[in-house]
Amino acid sequence: MPDEANPFESLQEQIDDAAAFLDVPADVVTRLKSPERVLEVTLTVEMDDGRLEGFRGFRSQFNGDRGPYKGGIRYHPNVSRDEVKALSGWMVYKCAVVDIPYGGGKGGIVIDPREYSESELERVTRAFATELRPFIGPDKDIPAPDVNTGQREMNWIKDTYEKLENTTAPGVITGKSIDNGGSAGRVEATGRSVMLAAREAFSYLDRDLSGATVAVQGYGNAGSVAAKLLEDQGASVVAVSDSSGAVFDPDGLDARAVKEFKRETGSVTGYADAEEEFSNEDLLTLDVDLLVPAALENAIDAEIASHLEADVVVEAANGPVTPDGDDILTGKEVTVVPDILANAGGVTVSYFEWVQNRQRFAWTEERVNDELERVIVDAFDRLVDAYESNDLPNFRTAAYVVAIQRVADAFGGAGSWP
Ligand code: GLU
Repeated sequence: MPDEANPFESLQEQIDDAAAFLDVPADVVTRLKSPERVLEVTLTVEMDDGRLEGFRGFRSQFNGDRGPYKGGIRYHPNVSRDEVKALSGWMVYKCAVVDIPYGGGKGGIVIDPREYSESELERVTRAFATELRPFIGPDKDIPAPDVNTGQREMNWIKDTYEKLENTTAPGVITGKSIDNGGSAGRVEATGRSVMLAAREAFSYLDRDLSGATVAVQGYGNAGSVAAKLLEDQGASVVAVSDSSGAVFDPDGLDARAVKEFKRETGSVTGYADAEEEFSNEDLLTLDVDLLVPAALENAIDAEIASHLEADVVVEAANGPVTPDGDDILTGKEVTVVPDILANAGGVTVSYFEWVQNRQRFAWTEERVNDELERVIVDAFDRLVDAYESNDLPNFRTAAYVVAIQRVADAFGGAGSWP
């Protein structure tokens, strides 16, 4: 889609929008708009039939002023250099807005993982880990899962790194399985912060989440966990979708049952009594109290935004609203809780995982969830404070105002060398 918004330009626009309200020198703002380093590799990997195939991979290290680069690795056919650069920048401001001691990074491989066997994916992943090895490490750059990657890939990367370094270093990567040094609560953490962000937003707006209607676009890890936890808060999830289509039931779906159905059949479409002929666009413009975009960038462009009827949007995906879409939503007074806060639960529990790896001491799930709730509630309060005291146009700008100031302070406090 040639006229789709370029996510890297969207990121830069979001930074400029917020910088206009800040007293950060223009040359520092310029520094905060581009990655420090981008690695591009070609992985040549043997397929099961003996052929060699090449895969393009990227790792962008956007900013390390507040700590090691941190962010996931995505496997998707549409991965591009600019997408990875944007995603790495969003990680910088995400870590800053929830005040965890990391910079931001992101990686990706141009691959449709559904077309490859498990052993092929293992060789591709280990080849990527081998290329990344000089650039990552528990104090340098700490990858994690993202779209189409999970515990399995993280375990492979940890193992490859440790073998090549001849050491144990579980903190080189987060999102591992528990028996490989992962953290309790990590799998559900992104969806949990989406639920917490929605709960805080509804309470700020003096509205009841219990009884609210919800539509969720994207039913992967973030979307399906958010749907389940929102149901536990008394909300009614009436529509969900994935890349194959959407399902709608005005009386409410059963989030757990839909997840089970998707696990068995590969898709949400065809689920039980849900209405047929319901499209992804129908879902995004449905008249619901809460819309949760939980798929990829650019889901809500100007066209969708002008027809959007939800009152509150809580962004589980990274970059789901284009800047043009955002302007329209601000004009319509739709409350948007931005990605960098709403989905920050994933990286926050990654941080807890890394802390546990350094301590060589595992926390209980209860402790993880309690600490996560504290981080998200504190960040939301700080965002509201910035929003109200500076009379800002929307929550996204407020989140960037808080985050950019923190990164600029870290840079300013240390100075620039060489
Ligand atoms: N990929 C997730 C994100 O976009 C998690 C990153 C991490 O845990 O480092 O926030």
